[in-house]
Amino acid sequence: MNNQGKILVIGGGISGVTTAIEASEVGKDVILVEKTPTLGGRVSGFHQYFPKLCPPTCGLEINYKRLRANPHVQVYTNSEVLSVTGDAGEFKVKVRKNPTFVNEKCVACDHCTDVCPSERSNDFNAGMDKTKSIFLPNKMAYPPRYVIDRPTCETGCSKCVDACKYGAIDLEMQVQEFEIEVTSVVVATGWKPYDAKNLTNLGFSSVPNVINNIMMERISSVSGPTKGQILRPSDQKPVETIAFVQCAGSRDENHLPYCSSICCLGSLKHTKYVLEQNPDAKIYIFYIDIRTPGKYEDFVAKVQAEKNVRMIKGKVAKISEGENGNVLVEAEDTHNLTKVHLEVDMIVLATGMESSLRGQEKIAGIELDEYGFVPAELQKIGIFSAGVAKRPVDVNSSIQDSTGMALKAIQTALKN
Ligand SMILES: Cc1cc2nc3c(=O)[nH]c(=O)nc-3n(C[C@H](O)[C@H](O)[C@H](O)COP(=O)(O)OP(=O)(O)OC[C@H]3O[C@@H](n4cnc5c(N)ncnc54)[C@H](O)[C@@H]3O)c2cc1C
Repeated sequence: MNNQGKILVIGGGISGVTTAIEASEVGKDVILVEKTPTLGGRVSGFHQYFPKLCPPTCGLEINYKRLRANPHVQVYTNSEVLSVTGDAGEFKVKVRKNPTFVNEKCVACDHCTDVCPSERSNDFNAGMDKTKSIFLPNKMAYPPRYVIDRPTCETGCSKCVDACKYGAIDLEMQVQEFEIEVTSVVVATGWKPYDAKNLTNLGFSSVPNVINNIMMERISSVSGPTKGQILRPSDQKPVETIAFVQCAGSRDENHLPYCSSICCLGSLKHTKYVLEQNPDAKIYIFYIDIRTPGKYEDFVAKVQAEKNVRMIKGKVAKISEGENGNVLVEAEDTHNLTKVHLEVDMIVLATGMESSLRGQEKIAGIELDEYGFVPAELQKIGIFSAGVAKRPVDVNSSIQDSTGMALKAIQTALKN
């Protein structure tokens, strides 16, 4: 690897992967640091994504192919950046690689999971099912390699070591720390869903069949906990009536005062998922305003035209548990100046995007805004932000922004 003009990218979602590919394909050396055991970020958890409503494989696989073929990108998964010091052109970076206990000899044959006696909550499926303690992070994982969640392992067990004929399991694997020098840094750390437990009137933690929009993506996906059948969690009943609650936490001074810009489209996309499985399903969408920028207006019009979709402008005041697992909604209808009382099978809270850095003061030595984002005005010479690390946006905008930030990172590298 060429020591001159290396670029560090923090975060391996669609934004970080795009930045890394764009910079490296013009010959720059890139170090991509991702904190989880796989690249892909939030997009890998979607059933489909707009504008084309294709599965995540259609975008991610092409990028992974480009990465595999590229000698200029070094990927460190399960890793974190401990510190960035110095100035543009000569940053010193400390990186920690946490052990996965499975090395590069892994061929993902799955024999280890057959013998593993322990289980863990499956974060990829939003905790709705379990995996063995040795697991593949998801079917599209990059690298396609198993990982062991050691705290959940049965004490003293080494059955996976005996079952692996490739010698890929190393229970003694240690933390590694190393230092690198880079000329520029791109922060692409993305987002997490706003914690719906904070919305006490909306029943997320108290009413069994109230889920959030990430859970909706996972239960709609064939690789999800219900193999793609939209079933409500409490009794696995196929969903016939469903309500979506927009701005669950967003545009609310007590939670996220900003608009996440994607949640309306997210719920409109989810109505398509429901109608594909059950064209007779009754769907209600409670909204403050429907915000679908630019070309996405057509998508709203199509969903609005569906005969079983009713869009109600008004805030939901309360969600509570009804009989037989049903969910009760109380809301206002500001167009008709009436109160609405509904009983549905399941409710999806359209929670917004919160910066994955919220709660931290800094990343790579630069300040974050009060919500944990790195907007353009907080960027410094040689340190840039891309995608949702900057502000809540869709995949297309993230990709465009990341391509621009790759160019800025290259320009810093060239000047030094
Ligand atoms: C319900 C819902 C549905 C959506 N559906 C669509 C859709 O259909 N179409 C569309 O265009 N957009 C959609 N979006 C928006 C889409 O998710 C984002 O545009 C996209 O995820 C942005 O990618 P990103 O790489 O910036 O962030 P992320 O996908 O969040 O990736 C960030 C990566 O950085 C890693 N990371 C975080 N912190 C660190 C750290 N400190 N060190 C190292 N790594 C770190 C994370 O593990 C992750 O891998 C949807 C959003 C929601 C809420």
